[in-house]
Amino acid sequence: MYRNAKNVGHYMIGKGALSQLGDILKPLRDAGRPGPALFFLDHCFRDGKLAARLPVESGDLLMYVDTSQEPTTESVDGYAARAREFLSGKTPGALLAFGGGSTLDTCKCVGNLLTNPGKAEDYQGWELVKHPAPYKIAVPTLSGTGSETSRTGIICNEAKNLKLGMNSDYTMFDQVLLDPELTAGVPRNQYFYTGIDTYMHCFESLSGSYRNVVVDSLAEKAIDICKRVFLSEDMMSDENRELLMIASFLGGMAAGFVGTVHPISAGLSMVLHMRHGLANCYALSVQEDIYPDEYREFMRMIERQGIDLPKGICRGLSDQQYTALYEASIVHEKPLTNRLGPDFKKILTQENVIERFKRM
Ligand code: NAD
Ligand code: ZN
Repeated sequence: MYRNAKNVGHYMIGKGALSQLGDILKPLRDAGRPGPALFFLDHCFRDGKLAARLPVESGDLLMYVDTSQEPTTESVDGYAARAREFLSGKTPGALLAFGGGSTLDTCKCVGNLLTNPGKAEDYQGWELVKHPAPYKIAVPTLSGTGSETSRTGIICNEAKNLKLGMNSDYTMFDQVLLDPELTAGVPRNQYFYTGIDTYMHCFESLSGSYRNVVVDSLAEKAIDICKRVFLSEDMMSDENRELLMIASFLGGMAAGFVGTVHPISAGLSMVLHMRHGLANCYALSVQEDIYPDEYREFMRMIERQGIDLPKGICRGLSDQQYTALYEASIVHEKPLTNRLGPDFKKILTQENVIERFKRM
């Protein structure tokens, strides 16, 4: 069976592109979509300076998304309830997201819940969303997750100890606007942790078994850009911030099947509530046997950019917590099979996985 792949409809790239957002939004407000616009902004923009630059009108809703923790089924249900209450039956003209993966994913998942009944957890999985979401626009302020172009919105389900996305064509954004000025203020460590997510998605996809030439080409290009950025003198120069936005954009389109980094990372996110980018860094730091070349390159990048990755994060955990870490990792059979084959549990035994966590 061939997959009928979808990409985002429109994209705009360039320094200062944000000033054109009003032009993008105008036809959506005029042409048969008269409903209000819903703006989702990362809470780091609470000072109002970003909001003041946006084409927000009096009938619109602006919500700050608390990203002190990554999205959960509960947090998404909460934002969806607020949006529904505000709309009281009206159809929104557009949903717009300004932030990193957490804010973008929140917006994507809320979009699905505005046109589909039930709760966020009902749609964690593949092809469960039945009705198209409202028109959605992504404006990343942090590069790396590729959420702006991917077909998933990732949420943690605390009750089920499961981190899983709403994988659907309806989850995708319709328009992406990339303005590298928006990432100028990101703290250096955060910029690296999230940026390197692109590199991880792409090498995991390239070293797996579900592939095609289009996806491989996107992934190869994204990896080239990541190397250029992270092995340069200053990963945050004007030029490199724009390049990393493009790598993230390409990486999101290439994303589909990851390998063994992301499952171990998901374990850390579920059990220790560690953020995704940082968790990926720890996950790769103990997989020198599984990804030897990428491991070495990653270590060079960390050193070149002076990034912190302090050891001992699992020190003092209980046996129960180690078991939970193992379980929240090993549950991701698709990506583990993608890298290690159907017998992955022969390599990643409980003991082997726990030993890796202990080395972090
Ligand atoms: P994030 O969105 O959680 O943000 C991390 C931190 O950066 C937050 O404190 C935020 O306030 C801050 N921040 C964002 N923009 C900033 C700016 N311009 N200046 C200063 N601070 C800023 O981080 P992330 O790594 O982008 O996203 C992680 C989430 O994305 C996870 O939940 C992960 O599972 C998900 N993810 C999704 C996909 C996808 O395809 N949908 C892919 C990979 C990861
Ligand atoms: Zn990732």
